[in-house]
Amino acid sequence: MEGSALLVLLVVAALAFTLGRRGRGDVAPVAPAAAGPAGEDVADDAERADGPWRTEFVDALNQPALLLDGHGHVQAANRAARELLGLTSPTLGGSILESTASTGVADVVARVRSGRAPLTVDVERAGRELRVSASLVGDETLVVLTDRTRERQIEDLRRDFVVNASHELKTPVTAIQTLGDAIAVTLPEDPDRAGSLIKRLNDESERLARLVGELLDLRRLEVAGPLERVPVDLAEVVRLVVAEQTPRAEGRRVTLEVDVPDTAPVAGVHADLEAVVKNLVSNAIKYNRDDGSVHVTLATDGSDRVLQVADTGIGIRQQDVPRVFERFYRVDTARSRATGGTGLGLSIVRHAVERHGGTVQVESELGAGTTFRVRLPIGSEA
Ligand code: ADP
Repeated sequence: MEGSALLVLLVVAALAFTLGRRGRGDVAPVAPAAAGPAGEDVADDAERADGPWRTEFVDALNQPALLLDGHGHVQAANRAARELLGLTSPTLGGSILESTASTGVADVVARVRSGRAPLTVDVERAGRELRVSASLVGDETLVVLTDRTRERQIEDLRRDFVVNASHELKTPVTAIQTLGDAIAVTLPEDPDRAGSLIKRLNDESERLARLVGELLDLRRLEVAGPLERVPVDLAEVVRLVVAEQTPRAEGRRVTLEVDVPDTAPVAGVHADLEAVVKNLVSNAIKYNRDDGSVHVTLATDGSDRVLQVADTGIGIRQQDVPRVFERFYRVDTARSRATGGTGLGLSIVRHAVERHGGTVQVESELGAGTTFRVRLPIGSEA
């Protein structure tokens, strides 16, 4: 059974018990009655005592909850419900439609009241997705709400991710199949041409391996939990990455300049920090121009290390800047693919940096260049 449905059942049972003990027909408005002089009759005392219990009852619930009287008027709403629905005191006492401004919520209540059976329905209200669970208790209706907006966004992201990942994987897989068939036909007849097809087959399988590797990296980075930090010398990581990428830079006539101290330890996960530097330097070369340059610097600012990768490349349009960290987002898909890009590099960078408690910023001017600035706390273990 759904958690919220179970909760409603339990709450309804408790409420039924409470109402049973108090007897039917002693429904009182939620506003506390004015204190009267001592010696008033017992019924008045009971009613006065009865008023606040509805408020206390919904207040005791963690989830947003409302209690409606036999006419469907809101008698009590806890703070979570008031915040979620933007309810103010004057709207209490009105109909559920007046109070919630939601035909969806009002419709669920109407169906429960006419069908006399509990109901759980998801409704949209003011851009939020609410799961509405309503049940009758005697004449009264208990409405418990769950804000599923964030959950829904995560579900949507997951679905998009699967669609995008499948689409990205399909491209090299199809190319490998086609090239395999072409090689089988070409090899006996034209062995020289087969050589270039085999090279392309190799490139596509490398792209596939890179994509799978990056998807797994992203998966690993998304798993929440404490990091097993060790001292990592960021200066050494930069030097190694730059040495590794120098042949690529030379192939593109891009100069790599490095300005790092002898050592710059941070407490972190070596593979994550290496992925950060690698992706930023690789992009700075990839999205550069012939005879351009990349300047990598590493400095210490208070308790942070600041890594900066600045290039003289093609730059990024302002409207694309906030989106470059999204998975699979590419400003120019053809250029990214042609250079072996997967659209995952910066997403990996952001996840890795944030997992280390750091931040990453980007400044870019179209046609002039881009600068990525990563700030990482040194950490006490370094
Ligand atoms: P990709 O594998 O396509 O490079 P990334 O996630 O690393 O994927 O980057 C996302 C997009 O951001 C790239 O496709 C590119 O359009 C843009 N981008 C990243 N780095 C730079 C840069 N240094 N200069 C210009 N554009 C960049």
